Amino acid sequence: MLLLLTNDDGVDAPGLWALIHTACRFTDIETVVVAPDRERSATGHAISIHQPVEVRQHRKDRRLRLYSTGGTPADCVKVAVEGILGRLPDFVISGVNRGPNLGQDVFYSGTVSAAMEGAFMGIRAMAVSVTAFENLDYGSAASFAVDWARRSHDEEEWPALVNVNVPAIPGESISGVAVTRLGRQRYRDVFMRRTDPRGRTWFWLGGTVLEGDAVEDTDICAISRNLISVTPLTTDLTDFAGIESLAGKALTWPDRA
Ligand code: MN
Repeated sequence: MLLLLTNDDGVDAPGLWALIHTACRFTDIETVVVAPDRERSATGHAISIHQPVEVRQHRKDRRLRLYSTGGTPADCVKVAVEGILGRLPDFVISGVNRGPNLGQDVFYSGTVSAAMEGAFMGIRAMAVSVTAFENLDYGSAASFAVDWARRSHDEEEWPALVNVNVPAIPGESISGVAVTRLGRQRYRDVFMRRTDPRGRTWFWLGGTVLEGDAVEDTDICAISRNLISVTPLTTDLTDFAGIESLAGKALTWPDRA
């Protein structure tokens, strides 16, 4: 199996290295890592079209090739497939991200966008995150992700794209695995306002989660119960009920009214 690893925390991030070490334990996995050369969290699905993407090779073994790029997480997947591999890998794992990607986080997340870029190309993919920012052990998340990739990469009936969140607790305390849907996370955006030495005003966006979604079948609820959350995602945002509700309406534009 040809496994592509990437992330949005940068090529040196311990979560990525947990995946590398886990994948390299399996002799049937050939691993290619193409990751950003710096922190790229919260860059969403951005791609570089106004500047070149530099690629550096750091390692070339028979079973592990490692590259960093100056691009975004989505760039990394594009560069890997089109530029480096010249063929589709069997699976893409993006992560293990430092911090949760729950509910609407998926729209801002570079981690999820890299996996989604893989799905756009028809590659089976997973985004995987650990739901805290400090004192993290990435081992359980990495084991779960690589095991999932090995089991599902050539199985048609497994979902093509999944977003996985792993509770930030010791592996033996994780109570199980739940298949979930995206919840709703409400943030209170907090802007620090300051004045710089030249008198210009700047704002720095922080934010705290106001409340999680207590609804039973959501990713947020699963994490609160110490379960690994697996949310199958689609790449199609179409509101099909919206299409239905517009079906009988005469739609015109003002200059033709
Ligand atoms: Mn990140």
